[in-house]
Formats: sequence, structure tokens, C-alpha cells
Amino acid sequence: MKKYKSAIILFLVFEVIAISLWLTSGSLFYLLNFSYIGCSLGIGLALSAAGWKYARELIQFCVGAYMLVFLGLICRENMQIEGFWYYLFSGVLGAGVLHYAIAKIFGPLLFGRGWCGFCCWTAMILDLLPYKQPSGPRKHIGWIRYVMFGLSLALVVLLMYLGKANKTSMFYLFVAGNLLYYAVGIILAIAFKDNRAFCKYICPITVFLKPMSYFSWLRIHCDEEKCIHCDRCLKVCPMDVEVNNNSRQRKNATECILCQKCKKACPVKALK
Ligand code: SF4
Ligand code: SF4
Ligand code: SF4
Repeated sequence: MKKYKSAIILFLVFEVIAISLWLTSGSLFYLLNFSYIGCSLGIGLALSAAGWKYARELIQFCVGAYMLVFLGLICRENMQIEGFWYYLFSGVLGAGVLHYAIAKIFGPLLFGRGWCGFCCWTAMILDLLPYKQPSGPRKHIGWIRYVMFGLSLALVVLLMYLGKANKTSMFYLFVAGNLLYYAVGIILAIAFKDNRAFCKYICPITVFLKPMSYFSWLRIHCDEEKCIHCDRCLKVCPMDVEVNNNSRQRKNATECILCQKCKKACPVKALK
């Protein structure tokens, strides 16, 4: 059972959130929504622990497609960063605020950037591209994420100031924003031969994710007595994390998306 510990804990955390929000708000939506996400994560992580090769991709599609298509396109909830700003400044505890609080601001203290490895609907598509391992060194253009962050904030503030921010404009912003993210993400992946280039340099959400995941309880540990320093883990890591170093200051420490590729590649099972 020990290998299923993370799956069970994550499932229980989501159930506690689902039941608490259902009881405090009276809305059955919260119970169904968070139970669905918790079940997807729990089952997927259990399948991953059991060694099923495509477990991560399965969770990514179950959660990512649900949020993009059902919550975003059918229910018309803007789940992108603009939706977060909009609901936050409107003083509404809407889906966007809850989603950010749980997946991207406070949740990373528990499960790091698990969102990026298992749930994100942008990465769900980018991960299908052929550049699964970065072929060159990282570029020094990570500052673009802060520009994107500032632009998204400024755009929502401007729309609110002009009185144009409402559910309809937020929905169109959601559609346009996603199309832009997919286009830029695919172009960058091809240009840099790196599926995760968008995540590394452009995504504004990492402004929240990186500092919070620094303190993450869930992280990959290396058993230094077992490690034979073959560096296979470093070669397969899509995020260039120095994972065979246990320090929280290891290179690209806040980039780990918990995808488990390093663990699968380690010939002596030194990574846990
Ligand atoms: S960095 Fe951004 S685009 Fe990449 S997986 Fe995380 S949230 Fe998604
Ligand atoms: S390969 Fe390992 S270190 Fe790299 S992102 Fe995935 S889990 Fe993290
Ligand atoms: S793959 Fe395993 S043995 Fe090789 S460097 Fe990484 S942790 Fe050490």
C-alpha cells in the first residue's frame, strides 16, 4: 500500500475540499466537480504507481479536457489567469478563484507543480508534440512570464475600468487566450525543439507556481547511497531539474512537474 500513499492522500484532500465547499455553499456542483478531479488524480496516480505507462497522460486528458471543454467552453467559466483576476477584483468566490487557490497558489505547498504535470489543458496538447526531452540548454528569456503576468493583470483592470468586464467578455477572452497559448506554445516547441518551452519561458501562471512549489511537501528525493551518477534522470527530465541533488536549491528546483520520468529512467531505483 505504501506506493499508493500519494494517490490516496491526494484523493482524500480533494474529497475534503469537495464536501466542505458543498456543505458551506449548498451547491452540488462543488461536490461533483472536486470529486471528479480527485478521483481522476487518485486513480491516475495509483495506475502510475502500479507502473502503467500512460497513467499521467490519462489524468491529463481526464482533468484537462474536462476543465477546458466542460467548465470553459460549455459552462463559460474563464479558468485562465484573466478569469482569476476578474473574479478576485469582483469579490466573487467563483470557479476561477477557487481553481487558482487550490491548483496554483496554496495547493502547490502540498503537491508542487502537480497541476503542470497532470492537469493543465495547455500542456495536454503540447505534450503530444515530439520534443519530449529538451535538446539544448535553457534560454535566458524566463523574464517573459512576468511581462505576460503584468499584461493579463493590466488587461482585466482596463476592461473593468471601461465597464466592459463581464461574463461574456471573459468567455471570449478565455477562447482567444487559449488559442493564443496553443499557437505560441506549438511554435516555441518547434523552434526550440522542446515541448515544454511555453511552460519554461512564457506561462504567466508560473509566477504563482514557482515560489509556492519551492516549499512543496511532495517532491522527488534521491537516495544518494544508491545513486551511481549515470545522469539518465537529468537527460529525460523535460524541465531540466537537477533531480539527483536533494537540496531545495537544486538547479531548476521550482520547475519540477512531478511527471515521474526521472524515476522511470533510473536504473537503480534511487529516486522516490
Ligand atoms: S507552466 Fe503553465 S502552461 Fe505549462 S503546464 Fe504549468 S500551467 Fe500549464
Ligand atoms: S523528470 Fe523528474 S525531476 Fe524532471 S520534471 Fe519530471 S518528476 Fe520532476
Ligand atoms: S538516474 Fe538514478 S542513478 Fe542515475 S544519476 Fe539519476 S538518480 Fe542517480
